[in-house]
This record gives sequence, C-alpha cells and structure tokens, in this order.
Amino acid sequence: MDLTAAQKILKTTFGYDTFRPGQRAVIEHVLSGESSLAIMPTGGGKSLCYQIPALLFNGITVVVSPLISLMKDQVDALNDSGVPATFINSSLEWPEIQDRLAALHRGDYKLLYVAPERLDSAAFLEALGQLPVDLLAVDEAHCISQWGHDFRPSYLALSTAIEQLPTQPQVLALTATATTQVAADICQQLKIDPQNEVNTGFARDNLDLTVVKDQDTDRYILDYLKVNEGETGIIYASTRKEVTRLTAMLGRHHIKAAAYHAGLDDDVRRQNQEDFLYDRIQVMVATNAFGMGIDKSNVRFVIHAQVPGTLEAYYQEAGRAGRDGLPSEAILLFRAQDLQIQHFFIDQSERDDDHKQREYQKLQVMSQYANTEDCLQQFILAYFGEKSEPCGRCSNCRDDREQQDITLDAQKVLSCVIRLRSRYGKSMVAQVLTGSNNQRIRENHLEDVKTYGIMASQRQKTVSELIDFLTATGYLNAVGGQYPTLQVTEQGGEVLRGESQVYRKMARQAKRLAPVDD
Ligand code: ADP
Ligand code: ZN
Repeated sequence: MDLTAAQKILKTTFGYDTFRPGQRAVIEHVLSGESSLAIMPTGGGKSLCYQIPALLFNGITVVVSPLISLMKDQVDALNDSGVPATFINSSLEWPEIQDRLAALHRGDYKLLYVAPERLDSAAFLEALGQLPVDLLAVDEAHCISQWGHDFRPSYLALSTAIEQLPTQPQVLALTATATTQVAADICQQLKIDPQNEVNTGFARDNLDLTVVKDQDTDRYILDYLKVNEGETGIIYASTRKEVTRLTAMLGRHHIKAAAYHAGLDDDVRRQNQEDFLYDRIQVMVATNAFGMGIDKSNVRFVIHAQVPGTLEAYYQEAGRAGRDGLPSEAILLFRAQDLQIQHFFIDQSERDDDHKQREYQKLQVMSQYANTEDCLQQFILAYFGEKSEPCGRCSNCRDDREQQDITLDAQKVLSCVIRLRSRYGKSMVAQVLTGSNNQRIRENHLEDVKTYGIMASQRQKTVSELIDFLTATGYLNAVGGQYPTLQVTEQGGEVLRGESQVYRKMARQAKRLAPVDD
C-alpha cells in the first residue's frame, strides 16, 4: 500500500520524519479497511495509528478511551496541531453535547473522543448512528477482557454498540498490555481477524529492571534520590496511607514530592499532576490511580515501594519510565509481607470467586517475578507469550554472585511437601521443616511427620525464602486462592529422585542499609 499521504501527515501535522516501529503496519491495516489490534509498548506511539487515518478518512473516527480526566488535554493538544477534534463525556451538560453532535454532523470534526460508558446510553448510540463513523479506535483495549488485569464492565458494551451502528465501522483496538489470552479475547469480542494483529513486542530496551528485596524502603529511596540527584520519577505504593507517609517523608528530606491517589480532591490531584508534568516537583508518590495516559517523556525512574497485584500492572506502571527512549530504571522493592496487602484487596473486592482465584494466581506470578534469579525482562516477556534472550541489563543479569548447589536443601523442602500430602502452604511447610512447636502443628500431629525439624538449624524466614525461590523456579507449585497450598512439580520430582540439581546464587552478605531516623 502507498503510505505517501500518511507519511506526509506524519511530517506536516505531527512534525515527525519517520514512523515508530509498528505504526506503519497498523496504519496500513487501518487504511485498507481491516479491523486490527495494535499491541505496542507504553510510549510506543499508539495514538498516531488512528489519528493519521482519521485525517485521511472522509467521515469521523470515534476514539473510546477510559481516560476522562485526560480527554480535554488530548483534544486540546490535537486542536493545537490543527486537528479538528472534540470529546463528549460526563463532564458536559446535555445542551453542550447537542452542540457538539450538531458540529459533528456539519463535518466540523474528524475525531470524537468518548468514554466507554457513553456507549451504554441508547440515546447516545442513536445520535452516533446518525454520524458517518468510519473508524472506532478502542484505546486500552485490554479493559474489555476479564482475563486482563484491568477489566472494565463498561467495555463490554462495545461489541453491541458496534453492531448497532449502521455504518459498521472498522475497529482498531490498541493496548500496551495483553497476554496471548487477552489478545485473543480482544480479537474475538471486537471481531478482529487475529491475522491483523500488529505486535511490536513488549521489550523496552531502555528500561533496566531491578528487584530489591528486604531493604528499608525510606533509606533505599533517599539513597537512590541522592545518587540520581534531580532526576524525575514516580514512586508507587499500594495504599493511600503509604502514599501520604512517603510524601511526607520525602518532604522532610527536602525533596519536592507530591501525592496522587483517589482520596484527594479533584483540584489537588489536578494541581499535583500538573506540577509533575511541568517539572515543578521531582517525585510523584502515587497509588495505581496515577499514570494511565500520562504522557510525560522524561520520567527517569519508577520505584514500586510496595509490590502491585499483577505483573501486567507492574509492567505497565514501570513502563511509564523512559517514554523518551533514554535509559531509565524500574525498581521493585519487595517484601513478602506486602503481598498480604494485595491479598486483602482481592479478598475485599466484590468479584465472584472465579475472578478472585484468577487474581490470586496473578499475585503469585508477581511473587515469582520478585523471587526468580533468571532474567527479569525474559520473565516478563515470557509471561506475555514472547520468547527472548537474557537482557543483560536487569538486576539478575547483572548479579554475578556464584551459584551454589542447594540440591540437598531443596530435596528436604520437596520431600516435606510430599509428606504433608500437598495440603499445606508455605508457612506451615517452613514451620514443620524448622521444627517449630505451635498449636496448629500439635493439633495436626505434624511433629510426627518424618521431615519435622530437619532444617531446625535454619531460620523459618530463610526456609520461607527458599520455598519462594523453589516456587519461582518451578520446582513447586502454589495452588489455590487466598491460602495456596504447595505441590511438587514434575521438575521438582526430578530433583527428589536425584536426576537433577538445583542451583541458587549465594546469599548476599547482608549489606542491609540502616533505617532512616528522623
Ligand atoms: P502510547 O503508545 O503510550 O499511547 P503515544 O501515542 O502517547 O504513546 O506517543 C508517545 C509519544 O511519542 C508522544 O509524545 C508522541 O508524540 C511521540 N511519537 C509518536 N509517534 C512518533 C514518531 N513517529 N516519531 C517521534 N515521536 C513520536
Ligand atoms: Zn536480564
């Protein structure tokens, strides 16, 4: 296909000389009238994939986006570049909506941004049906899938809405985060031929991944900010309380930081977001309420002070670093007890049991990521269904500690799991191995189990970490929801039978940082 016209708009309207990876292929699909799915990393340049075709089509391109708070900014930015665009969402009164619809009728706009909730409204669909809609762009398309990490029921209305539109517009679904399963689900629901999937891969070569375990959070962050003086970044925490605490802590150390979470007033949030976008503050401390759709290119680091609930969420949040393509860091500060917070969130949520089980499983993957000794990037890409080589940059690739043969200890753990008939979880197995003497052990007569106390010389925490390691590396499986029980895998069976060895990097000589006193 001849993309001269598209290339010209890229230059004249948006001021860029060349397409980014994937953009050309996606635009080609769209211009040839095929519904398609674009999977490109955060900052990959998904917007142009529908904005350029929108300018080439005769009719209107409707963009479905969950980011109501950003719609105005996005539309303003387009208008500034001379692209006639508008939005309709719940922030507008009905007369204003009607004015905009009338203008759309007159052909005043090429792009219309709407929130997915709009498509639930029969009146709105009716009005949309009167317009010459050529293309429906579905941003953050993973929200349509229950298998995804950010399912939004309002997205389910999309497929019905498309069917009801008399113009039967073609669809372009876009996302930065989709497992193979989620991608298939998007294609099925939006009737996209899987052949028309453009996936540029999830690798972010300018992003260095690091996992830091059991360090003092405040000390680590302050030291990091000292070494990386003046650089801008985001610190994510799981709870509003921790966001507030961290923001205050940074303030006391004269670091310009602001908070962002759903509990703050709209005005405060908007102000803090702007301060961050315009570099008036150095660090944004936030819950996961912050970030989707934020186009700040010079974020140099994203630190997770607490572990998030899914690897998809983690990678999406981490990916907000380095949108400009320059070297950036994503650091996960991991403490096993922080998993409990996520457990609690899942437990408290009003989802059905199946959904909860899936969330627990996703949390286990997150824990595996924190505990693996293999390449972190490779781990993430494999999760998204992509094969790759070790990245050479992540904290595990950079970790040159010697490997130690831990087969004997591994066998002890594995045989204990078998002796306990796969009925118990990590802490019970660790307690039995270290010979702890508590009520639950006595009630269940576990002191009679043959492996009771065979690791009594080690601390329970050390054994727990070994179990985490064996789970992350696939020798054990943690099965079930809130209180997963351990099972020995095929691979674990080989170790028990002496057919293969287990290696682990030597324990770091605990160079623990002193806590901050202030
Ligand atoms: P995302 O894929 O996360 O939606 P955006 O569409 O917001 O990414 O694009 C990220 C940034 O990259 C924006 O600032 C955009 O202007 C810029 N960009 C997009 N395409 C190109 C290109 N072909 N050349 C240079 N910069 C581009
Ligand atoms: Zn690596």
